[in-house]
Amino acid sequence: MSAEFEPVIGLEVHVQLATATKLFCACPADGAGKAANANICPVCTGQPGALPVLNRRAAELAFTAALALGGKIPARSVFARKNYFYPDLPKGYQISQYEEPFCAGGSVALPGGRAVRLTRIHLEEDAGKLLHGVGSEKLAHSLVDLNRAGVPLIEIVTEPDLRSAEEAADFLAALKAVLQYCGVSRCDMEKGELRCDANISVRPAGSRTLGTRAEVKNLNSFRFVGDALDYEFRRQCAVLAEGGRVVQETRLWDADAGVTEGMRGKEEAHDYRYFPDPDLPPLAAAPELLERLRIGLPELPAARRARFSAALGLSDYDAQVLTADRSLADYFEAALESAAGEAPEAPRAALAKALSNWVQSEMLARGGAEACPVPPARLAGLIGLMLKGTISGRIAKEIFPRMWDTGKAPAELVAELGMTQVSDAEQVAAWVAEAAAENPKAAADLRAGLEKAAGALVGAVMRKSQGRANPALVQRLIKERIR
Ligand code: ADP
Ligand code: MG
Ligand code: ZN
Repeated sequence: MSAEFEPVIGLEVHVQLATATKLFCACPADGAGKAANANICPVCTGQPGALPVLNRRAAELAFTAALALGGKIPARSVFARKNYFYPDLPKGYQISQYEEPFCAGGSVALPGGRAVRLTRIHLEEDAGKLLHGVGSEKLAHSLVDLNRAGVPLIEIVTEPDLRSAEEAADFLAALKAVLQYCGVSRCDMEKGELRCDANISVRPAGSRTLGTRAEVKNLNSFRFVGDALDYEFRRQCAVLAEGGRVVQETRLWDADAGVTEGMRGKEEAHDYRYFPDPDLPPLAAAPELLERLRIGLPELPAARRARFSAALGLSDYDAQVLTADRSLADYFEAALESAAGEAPEAPRAALAKALSNWVQSEMLARGGAEACPVPPARLAGLIGLMLKGTISGRIAKEIFPRMWDTGKAPAELVAELGMTQVSDAEQVAAWVAEAAAENPKAAADLRAGLEKAAGALVGAVMRKSQGRANPALVQRLIKERIR
């Protein structure tokens, strides 16, 4: 980014609460895979006389988010009508919160530890969806799907505390982890369960005043957030460098073209004519309820990360990757417990490191802990066989996918496939001799002191042994016998 200017970024993040039903009616909240308008009723389609009733679970999840993020929860908050016309909004208003949201303040720690301050969090309902360009060319028209109408959201608004596109992405990842840990939201961005509007202005580096901002609407992937902010920063810098002025406006990210485009300016900004919704009483936050929710909070990602570093000796990076996803961290801890039982003499930190590598490479590559059918104890069993020297690391990597696919125990697969590691020096030496005879050039090079020629011989021995030769023994015997 430019040396003369710095970006100032604030985010408005919409998160879908993990409820079974919508915010003010009993319709299912999950419309994925359903026919259009399968999940609708008189309330969420805004029929005259239909009255909203607040979903208790949605309120509990919202309060849980506020507690986990360290916000202040006032004794009461107020639902307000945000009035505007759009075909996906049959009531002509969205029920939201405005002057009195359920949460004020709070913060999210970036990986480096710096806190990004939250301004507020409020509850609101989602709107429907328009399907454009349906029908023949001549009669092209748009259809309305109201499955999403009334789905519960919280909107989390940050202070303009972020200073780069990377920080914005780090913030979103940290926020997502907290919300997933407490079960507030699944935060599946592909399903639109977490999306954000990014506000960005630029100012001379070191300045304390804020520049004029543009708001990029509806970014639904981390990559779009990063790309849109990078683009918008460069665009605004160019405007200022030419002596121009940034106009306050709403812009849209065009991912295909890689540009943001003006959607509406300040003059066209909506006047939503907010007023308290007369159909809904204020939302009371009972102290007993808040206390119950507070006690129910799990260990949060930052605390868990710190514990993984301090108690298990994992690097900051490893602790970060393992704790970013709760199911992965849970899996890792359960496997570590079992592995410690399998190999009580092995130092805990060494086990943790071995398992951490394993979980990060083999498991994440195959879809993560949630997709993994191998119970943690089984993985611990496999690591145990490896640590005891029954199988090599390489064989372990071959066994794991088979455990994944067949559901069989590691020892059973090792026996079935005859993959026990061969540590018999005589057998390995015989393979080494054969390998040297079949690769005279590599053997001669090694004798002449060309260390890297050993690699070809190791490879040959491993092929001969079908991967079963003890690698340390192979290395040693090649050194002893050939050189
Ligand atoms: P609105 O509701 O009109 O979008 P808000 O005042 O609620 O306006 O601000 C929304 C977001 O914009 C917040 O995240 C805030 O931090 C951010 N923001 C406000 N002013 C600036 C600025 N000058 N530069 C960058 N971000 C800003
Ligand atoms: Mg905004
Ligand atoms: Zn409904």
